[in-house]
Amino acid sequence: MKILFFVVCCFCSFIALSQEVSLTPSTKSINITEKIAVFEDKNASLSFPQVQQQVFTPFSQRSILIPFSDEAFWVKFKVKNTHPAQDDWILDWSNFFAEYVSFFVQQDDGDFQEIKKGALVARGNAKRDNPYINFKIGYQEEKVFYVKILSQRGLYGRFTILTPEAMAEEQIDDAKSESFINGLIVLRLVYVLLLAAFVVKELAFRRYSILLIMRSFAYWGFVGVLGGFFTNNVTTALTINFLSYHVLPIGQVLAATAILPIARFPSFVSHAFKIVVALTLVLALGIIFDYRWYWLKASTYLIICTQLSIFALYIVAVWRKYPLNWYYSVPFLLGIGSYIFIQMRLVSWVNFGWIFAFANFCFISEIFVFGVFLSRIIQNYEKACLVSQKELRFNQEQASRLKELDELKTNFFTNISHEFRTPLTLLIGPLADFQKKYPGERLVEIMQRNIMRLQSLINQLLDLSKLEAGKLQPEIQKGDLALHLRHLFGSFESLAQSRNIIFHYEQTYTHEEAYFDADKIEKIVTNLLSNAFKFTPQNGRVHVRVQTTLEELKIVVHDFGIGIAPERLPHIFDRFYQVDNSAGRHYEGTGIGLALVKELIEVLKGNVNVESVVGKGTIFAVNIPIGRMTWEDQIIEHDYLEMIPPLPALVQSSNESESTTEGQWPIVLLVEDNPDLRVYMRAIFENQYQIIEAIDGQQGLEKAIEYIPDLVICDLMMPRLDGLGLCRAIRSDIRTSHIPIIMLTAKSTMQDRLEGLELGADDYLTKPFNRDEMEVRVQNLIRQREILRQKYGQQIAETMAQVREKPVLSLNEQFLQKAVTVVEEHLSDSSFDVELFCKAMNMSRSNMHRKLRALTSQSATEFIRSIRLERAAELLKRRTGTVSDIAFQVGFESLPYFSKSFQEQFGIPPSEYR
Ligand code: ADP
Repeated sequence: MKILFFVVCCFCSFIALSQEVSLTPSTKSINITEKIAVFEDKNASLSFPQVQQQVFTPFSQRSILIPFSDEAFWVKFKVKNTHPAQDDWILDWSNFFAEYVSFFVQQDDGDFQEIKKGALVARGNAKRDNPYINFKIGYQEEKVFYVKILSQRGLYGRFTILTPEAMAEEQIDDAKSESFINGLIVLRLVYVLLLAAFVVKELAFRRYSILLIMRSFAYWGFVGVLGGFFTNNVTTALTINFLSYHVLPIGQVLAATAILPIARFPSFVSHAFKIVVALTLVLALGIIFDYRWYWLKASTYLIICTQLSIFALYIVAVWRKYPLNWYYSVPFLLGIGSYIFIQMRLVSWVNFGWIFAFANFCFISEIFVFGVFLSRIIQNYEKACLVSQKELRFNQEQASRLKELDELKTNFFTNISHEFRTPLTLLIGPLADFQKKYPGERLVEIMQRNIMRLQSLINQLLDLSKLEAGKLQPEIQKGDLALHLRHLFGSFESLAQSRNIIFHYEQTYTHEEAYFDADKIEKIVTNLLSNAFKFTPQNGRVHVRVQTTLEELKIVVHDFGIGIAPERLPHIFDRFYQVDNSAGRHYEGTGIGLALVKELIEVLKGNVNVESVVGKGTIFAVNIPIGRMTWEDQIIEHDYLEMIPPLPALVQSSNESESTTEGQWPIVLLVEDNPDLRVYMRAIFENQYQIIEAIDGQQGLEKAIEYIPDLVICDLMMPRLDGLGLCRAIRSDIRTSHIPIIMLTAKSTMQDRLEGLELGADDYLTKPFNRDEMEVRVQNLIRQREILRQKYGQQIAETMAQVREKPVLSLNEQFLQKAVTVVEEHLSDSSFDVELFCKAMNMSRSNMHRKLRALTSQSATEFIRSIRLERAAELLKRRTGTVSDIAFQVGFESLPYFSKSFQEQFGIPPSEYR
């Protein structure tokens, strides 16, 4: 066994040493890497004599990859000098990052001398230097060399033997090309910095400049000169050199997020970028405190992954045709391309001969391409600046025009509100007289209530315009603030009662003297409370808490109502803003109240906060200063404010009041959400029609189906279901499709009218409507239906024939056809009565009755009988049997009754008819 081992060893050594390097007279510089043999000491634990005993494997490539590891990488080769005139040579290892490189050179006595070189071998400075040795070898002499390389950092390199002259030449060539590249880099750095600082103030350019600064340092780190520039400590210098390159992902992420349309990609992309930055920082710390191969390798993987991901994003962006700024993207991609393959070679992913040349090509091209594109980047930037300047000017002009318009509007509001006041005054006074004259008259009460509402709206408008003109000043008087507030709250009690809302208010003091503007505080509190009551459903709760100190008043209005969605909350103080301004909204309003509240509070140097949760409620908290100090200059002295209780808040008239009118009068269904308007319309019609009321579209629809009215009057804007929806629903239900509809609306554009009419409204009236016109239109529609009804009734036989033939039928015709068919099916069945008829038609008795009356003027019994008689007449004409046979066939059990009915319908007895 030992013999066999010895033979193998000798054979291997023979192979290895047969890879002899021959130095000939023509040799100046020779890459000997193909001629070496290698051995990897995985634990780096063997001594030199032990290593000499090991088996070395011949190596046949032009470069060696020293992996990221703790191992000692051993190389062995033999040199023979056949150059008679040259005995001075240099052995050079091409990678200056190798931390320890020990050369073992065979001496004349056969022993080996160790010479230590490498980046971490103390040399008095940390300047970059390839590890190399000079050695002497005589003519025809042979020498064996061992080299041990220890490196945490993965390396790629080769061994060269060269003459000292060749070495000097190479160093000069390297220095030349390095200076050229350094010159380019410094130049680029300077102009990019200047441009970014003073000319192109664009995000993408600035981010790209940061990347370029990082890349310049990365280059100097990559060629091993950066660390030595800062320090003489070899370890620190090595770390700096490595890190300068390996923090590049941060710059690349910064640039990529500004150059790529990152918002278009899924959100995980930007998260992944953040993770890259965090990982880079973590790995950098690892490397700083523990310069070991695993940190270095992980960092290399990270840089590869980042660069590949950016490539991938570009592919996706091109594929999906996202807009890309190629003036940045092309140099950016070239920059990434320059070193990615070198990194990938270090982790053994790829190995091509042209990797280094390609990297250099990309590196230099990036510098030139960016230089060329720079002019376009600057041009584009200037263009964008011009456009934005123009936009700015346009916006400024627009703003000043809007301001002018606003002023005009404000003036207009002010004037018109003033104009409104005179007629209002003239209405309020005489109405009060009327009230005294006719104390029980409900309509006068409604008029008064609505005139007051009009007045308060006009006052709000006027206040707003005064605020806008800066004319609304605080009018501070000394008075009993607690009493004032109590009066205000008290005025809401009846409203609370009428809506069954628990209204609770608490105050710190029952009486408290303070300096305040009573009128403005009243407006603020009234608006907040009105909203609280408006947006809280029946049986809900509203709480108000007042806390006062000598200096400040704090009012918290808390309702447990519908709440406000978070995205709407920031807008509720905007003028004319309403959370829900659709036609189907539940609540009336103008959107002025809160805008006014906010501005009044500002005039009073206070502030307001709002919190709200949808479905739970809303809290408005108002703080207003009330101390003498705050209002020193504005106090109206010697004028003590007398507290007069305000009028109670507007209580809406009751929602429900069903008709008390009896009998056969046509039924009119009023669908309107404003209770006062309902009362008014009821007053117009209640002497001629039976009135049914509904408070919104949904209830209107339910009542239309329940009562089958003769006419529906409905509002356009209503909660739950608006007028158009109601119209559509009534028209598409067979039970109600015949009912004429009058639509009421405040909107009266052609478009609205057309839409309503298309959906089947028979008539349109705009608010405010004229009473007489309304009456005439209702009468006309009802009369028209009457005429139609008579026509249907007289021509029942024709209808029967028509409906059988007609392919496309209206809902009314469909109904009639069904009714006729059902009766015909049971013609001979004398027990087929109204009850069975209704069952077969799937309608209640009263609905059936109303619908038939509306269409044919006949009751259900009359309808069945008339069809039976029509059929009898047909049979008599065709003489199919005796009169009594035929009477029996059409479901009459009594012949005299048949004859009587027949005579009634056709004017002659059946025997004669025949
Ligand atoms: P409006 O006349 O419509 O009530 P406001 O300016 O008083 O106008 O209020 C603006 C909007 O803020 C209202 O349309 C309403 O949607 C919302 N809002 C105000 N107060 C409340 C509240 N207490 N609860 C729920 N929503 C409210």
